[in-house]
Amino acid sequence: MVDIIDIADPMRTQAILNTYGLHAKKKFGQNFLTDLNVLHGIVDAAEVTADDYVIEIGPGIGSLTEQLARVAKKVVAFEIDTEMVHVLSETMQNYDNVKIIAADILEVHLSEIITKEFGEGAHVKVVANLPYYITTPILMQLLRTNIAWDNIVVMMQREVADRLNAAVGTKAYGVLTLTTEYFAKAKLAIEVPAESFNPAPKVDSAVVKLTPSTPEILVDQPERLFGVIKGSFSHRRKSLWNNMLQTYGKDLDVKDKIKAALEAADIAPSIRAERLNLTELTALYLALRAQGLTN
Ligand code: SAM
Repeated sequence: MVDIIDIADPMRTQAILNTYGLHAKKKFGQNFLTDLNVLHGIVDAAEVTADDYVIEIGPGIGSLTEQLARVAKKVVAFEIDTEMVHVLSETMQNYDNVKIIAADILEVHLSEIITKEFGEGAHVKVVANLPYYITTPILMQLLRTNIAWDNIVVMMQREVADRLNAAVGTKAYGVLTLTTEYFAKAKLAIEVPAESFNPAPKVDSAVVKLTPSTPEILVDQPERLFGVIKGSFSHRRKSLWNNMLQTYGKDLDVKDKIKAALEAADIAPSIRAERLNLTELTALYLALRAQGLTN
């Protein structure tokens, strides 16, 4: 008989864990979603259709994977925990459009796998209830590696969600905001209460939707721009001038070049980086590069 109860049903989730003698592992950030409304909300936010290739990060026992598999063309899910991979080989056995890859998402060559699993030049949607302990590195990997994505819809801790689209000058505004903004528009899609998970996380959660966007100034080597942004924010309470001296040195010759770059970018040396928007910081990067301070 075909089992028609969703994996995410709270009783079924617990029953699956009991059957395999498993407990959620803190070290892997395991908080399983047991709220079907939230799961449907995530799939709807990603606008997944029968034409879509989906990458999932951290399928766990398969609650979200199942909902994705019902609508997508194909789902490729990366799971680090071999015990979960074993559970998935059973919970996903009726879905022939799901491929589970037992791997650490931060160690895989995503673009190669996308080509292998979906075909050359395939576009993907990335959908996940992220392991919170590595939210930022995963986001950085998705944004900074060269993959063609239509949208990224991911659950994360609320505090990180707020940093993704923080306003200039606020406490939440920083390197993560600016890196995100270079590649994407970030929008809070769903606020999720702790009771939607088993076990309940100790922090607030939110689903964020990223859609691709192009910055006002495109640079040929974004990594170098992010290096300058990082340097500018290395001591948030210090002026841009002091952070620049710290990064490039205090020789007279270097000071002159920093001064010239700030003038060329029309930025006051006394300002703090948190007061500058992406366009201004990009202008600063280009001016520093023109002075030979960064290449
Ligand atoms: N998707 C499931 C759900 O919503 O119920 C589980 C989400 S749980 C918050 C995070 C999942 O990511 C866990 O299954 C965990 O084992 C997995 N995970 C943790 N670190 C990982 C990594 N580096 N690479 C791949 N998966 C990882």
